Amino acid sequence: MTDSSTPRRLLSEDVREHNLDLLLSQLSTRAGVSRSYLAQSTGLAPSTITLLIDELQELGLVTTLDDVDSTTLEPGRRKQLLTLASNTYAIAGMQLTGDCVRVSCRSISGQDILDEERPVVFQGRSIEEFAHYIAERIENLVGILATRRFSGLPVVGVVMPAPVFNNHRTILAAIDFGWTSTVDLAALIEHDLSHDVKVLLFNDANCSLWADYTHLCMTSPRSSMPENVLYIKSDVGIGGSAVIHGRIYNGSHGMAMEPGHMQVDPHGIACKCGRVGCLVTLAGPDVLIRKAAMTKEDKELGRDATLALLLRREREGDHEAAMILGGADDLIRTMLIDIITMFTPDRVILGGYLARRVDRLSDGLPPFAFFPTGAGTSPDSAGIIPTHYPTNGAMTGMLISLKTMVLSNAAHIARKERWTPSVI
Ligand SMILES: [Zn+2]
Repeated sequence: MTDSSTPRRLLSEDVREHNLDLLLSQLSTRAGVSRSYLAQSTGLAPSTITLLIDELQELGLVTTLDDVDSTTLEPGRRKQLLTLASNTYAIAGMQLTGDCVRVSCRSISGQDILDEERPVVFQGRSIEEFAHYIAERIENLVGILATRRFSGLPVVGVVMPAPVFNNHRTILAAIDFGWTSTVDLAALIEHDLSHDVKVLLFNDANCSLWADYTHLCMTSPRSSMPENVLYIKSDVGIGGSAVIHGRIYNGSHGMAMEPGHMQVDPHGIACKCGRVGCLVTLAGPDVLIRKAAMTKEDKELGRDATLALLLRREREGDHEAAMILGGADDLIRTMLIDIITMFTPDRVILGGYLARRVDRLSDGLPPFAFFPTGAGTSPDSAGIIPTHYPTNGAMTGMLISLKTMVLSNAAHIARKERWTPSVI
């Protein structure tokens, strides 16, 4: 519904921007489409398509695939096929984990430009050092893109295991790294940049869930599209995320869904978060590693490999490994029962090492009464499932979100106008 006082020019401008978004998102799904396909898939009039495509070509965002044999892509007579220009804009993600920083960069048309992982530990170092490191990596990336004649890098996402405020700039704290104050980390990074690049922060569990949720939606029949999905993972700490009615739910300060800090023992030991008896103090991955006397392996092999080794010891009959993992299972299962009772989700997705304990953690959960949409009523549609992205979910989810954001603002970015990021 529109307000009758809204100026007419503004309305037509909004519709035009919306139609440009629509065309760009269609073009991002296939390389090489005809104008008639675009008219059919968007419902826009052919004359409107012509006007808008002319504008997108002028902005350098769309080009043609003159040398491609159209009969392999579309039936009918040969047409001039359109595609997203390959070297316009790039998007990049930087992911902080306990033992490395991963950088992934690709063009908005989907080509991989860079994917690398550098071992670096930030626990115990200052947040300013981290900001400076990320800024250096961004500057380096901008240099690489310039040599490849890209138009620019409008936005970089930084994904980390910490609660991120809804403005995607401020973190409440990152207690696993010893950063205990609320900081506008995006501003710290941008301060060290000589290029105009927007920096946005993302919570790792939110991004992992977004990747899984997108995958679930793409593979689910239209009649049973999931709307409410929970994600629980254990790697750095025990984190989580929720999609409620198709959108990430963050709570007021980005603190929603922190299952690791649910209190399981009111008389328990102090947690780094300031409370006592949190789930992570008894079943956090670092606690399991310490109990199993595997701190040395954790340092040398990294967290994922160490947890995999602990699971292997249990499989091979190691009694102590079985006791340690079994004790954590009991506490995590209790937490799962509580949050399933609270949210009645369509699905619960498990990530980190928990993805390899779906059967054990499902054992003893209430039967499918807690999955009212019918999920879990047959063996192939269980309510609790492992993540589809065991190793790179957070980066994948963030890049999906950044691509959508850049495509829906591409015309503004190309015209060098102000644009506001709208993120997951
Ligand atoms: Zn805590």
